[in-house]
Amino acid sequence: MSLANGRSYLAIPGPSVSPDRVLSAMHRTAPNIYEGEIVDITRSIIPDLKRVALTSQHVAIYITNGHGAWEAAITNIFSRGDRALLAATGRFGHGWAEHAQRMGIEVDIIDFGKAGAADPQRIAEALRADTNHTIRAVLVTHVDTASSARNDIAAIRAAINAAGHPALLAVDAIASLGCDELRMDDWGIDVIIGASQKGLMLPPGLGFVWFSDKALAVSQRAGLSTPYWDWRPRGTGTEFWQFFGGTAPTHHLYGLREALTMILDEEGLPQVWERHRRLASAVWAAFDAWGKGSAIALNVADPAARGWSVTAATIPAGGAGALRRWLEAEAGVTLGIGLGMALPSEPAYQDFLRVAHMGHVNAHMTLGVLATMEAGMQSLGIPHGPGAVEAAARAIVGS
Ligand SMILES: *Cc1c(COP(=O)(O)O)cnc(C)c1O
Repeated sequence: MSLANGRSYLAIPGPSVSPDRVLSAMHRTAPNIYEGEIVDITRSIIPDLKRVALTSQHVAIYITNGHGAWEAAITNIFSRGDRALLAATGRFGHGWAEHAQRMGIEVDIIDFGKAGAADPQRIAEALRADTNHTIRAVLVTHVDTASSARNDIAAIRAAINAAGHPALLAVDAIASLGCDELRMDDWGIDVIIGASQKGLMLPPGLGFVWFSDKALAVSQRAGLSTPYWDWRPRGTGTEFWQFFGGTAPTHHLYGLREALTMILDEEGLPQVWERHRRLASAVWAAFDAWGKGSAIALNVADPAARGWSVTAATIPAGGAGALRRWLEAEAGVTLGIGLGMALPSEPAYQDFLRVAHMGHVNAHMTLGVLATMEAGMQSLGIPHGPGAVEAAARAIVGS
């Protein structure tokens, strides 16, 4: 008999769980978009978006998803024929590179594999070799949602500086913003890309691009710039109609106002990061226990190179696929598929899964997922080491 009835939990790395408060704030008829409340709310959202990224510089809001925000960043930085250096640590870096290539950018990809962080020294070497400074920007994912590998962004900035290279540093933080420590100004980031449906806890539909004064200066001569994606009116305009290039995303703005209040003014950004770190450490502790005497393993061996919002792992012999199906059908929990590790047509595709612990997630949700996974392994006869739930409980309380 299935035990899936009850409130289900979508534990995939985006869309994440939206707080009822956020959904309630959106559940209303559309407002006047020319004056009044929505204008005031937007004017309060913009400084708060800067607070989330820890920047005093600029932010542009787009009605789009993460892929659209990638493209927004590209159009504002580059001209056709420009060069970029991309550090890939999973699937999403390659996806961003493919966008840039189709838009006429020459992308030098350094592939760091799918199981760890980028080596800043190799980025510095590539930049030193570019003696004419033709590379306009270094592109990197903060946390690659497919591999769950996390890059050391401050170290990458230090490497760019050590190479004496003027390239911009552009960071895809879609999977880490509002989950993992991210400091735009302190870390010398020029461009950050985000989306609404991950750490910001909203439904999909908004993309964000934060940009520095230096990036703004570069964008003045970006040949790929187009009217809709141009970040200048959105990020530096003063009139409300300039912010959205058309009708405002009214309902998402109501939801975003509520989410930002929860993150910044109620819980506090450092506490949000610490909650994600602790939930992640519980997931890692469970996998370490399951992996004792079995072939279950985390994708990223080095804890310092793991993101705090999502964990990719392998459960071989098709165990990951079987476990995902069991959790959904029998227990009301949906885990993430393994992404970018094997093609869906290959048998190995069923050996990978991802557990999200991203956004509006607390101790009982994560411990519940882990205990439910334990039940699924028992039911399915998947070989696993003992003590995972106990180890997760210890990690949650920080001992
Ligand atoms: C989710 C995600 C994307 C893609 O975002 P969409 O909203 O699905 O277009 C890109 N990069 C990273 C790191 C992500 O986590």
